[in-house]
Amino acid sequence: MNFFVLTLFPEMITDTLSHSITGRAIKDGKINIEAVNIRDFSKNKQKHVDDYPYGGGAGMVMQPQPVYDAYKSIEQKAGKNTRVVYMTPQGKTFNQKMAEDFSKEENIIFLCGHYEGIDERVIEEIVTDEVSIGDFVLTGGELASIMMIDAISRLVPGVLGKEESFQDESFSDNLLEYPQYTRPAEFMGKKVPDVLLSGHHGNIAKWRREQSIIRTIEKRPDLIKNAELSKKDIKFIEKIGKSDIIK
Ligand code: SAM
Repeated sequence: MNFFVLTLFPEMITDTLSHSITGRAIKDGKINIEAVNIRDFSKNKQKHVDDYPYGGGAGMVMQPQPVYDAYKSIEQKAGKNTRVVYMTPQGKTFNQKMAEDFSKEENIIFLCGHYEGIDERVIEEIVTDEVSIGDFVLTGGELASIMMIDAISRLVPGVLGKEESFQDESFSDNLLEYPQYTRPAEFMGKKVPDVLLSGHHGNIAKWRREQSIIRTIEKRPDLIKNAELSKKDIKFIEKIGKSDIIK
């Protein structure tokens, strides 16, 4: 999978993603990241890419021409119908479902704004998706695109060690993941639940499912209504006296 990032700070992208699992995926050729410096496409001597906003007001706005030319420089390589994702606090909030959807693409282009944002005309011209990483304002789109690339990359086949590593994971079925434990079996007087040491796969799976349900009800009750619950799950929810939450 190829990620192209149009940015004023290409090293932020390449340096950050060169570590850990994404770094290994790049080395193994499972993903490819190309950060394109928008400033390289500035046509003025000082390499300015921003100017004052028409109509006045604070801050600077990124000019359309360098952004458009940066996009044009990779358009062919990335393919004609490639999605162009503008990172903006005004976009749809990113979530796991969107990560799954994007992970099916072969190429994605990210556009990172800075200052007060980007001239609207170039956004209208090239952008297909507007995505936010939450209801807060960052100084630039770089960290936001890094988060998206990280979340999408780990869903690309072969990027994680074992495919099943993300199968029970939080949000995969609108449920949060069950609690995890590793050695030692006792830490500060707290023991790992007996069932996990029993070696009984059926009981372990049942316990994990129930813990997922309990956790989701406690921590993210908004999710549970959209979870795919079996008859057994519903019986369990009734047993713990929380059936009102799924009505
Ligand atoms: N003036 C813009 C507004 O109020 O909508 C905010 C501009 S922000 C200071 C600069 C850039 O950071 C944006 O163009 C965008 O690329 C990025 N950015 C800021 N917050 C973000 C968020 N929550 N999600 C994704 N990108 C964000």
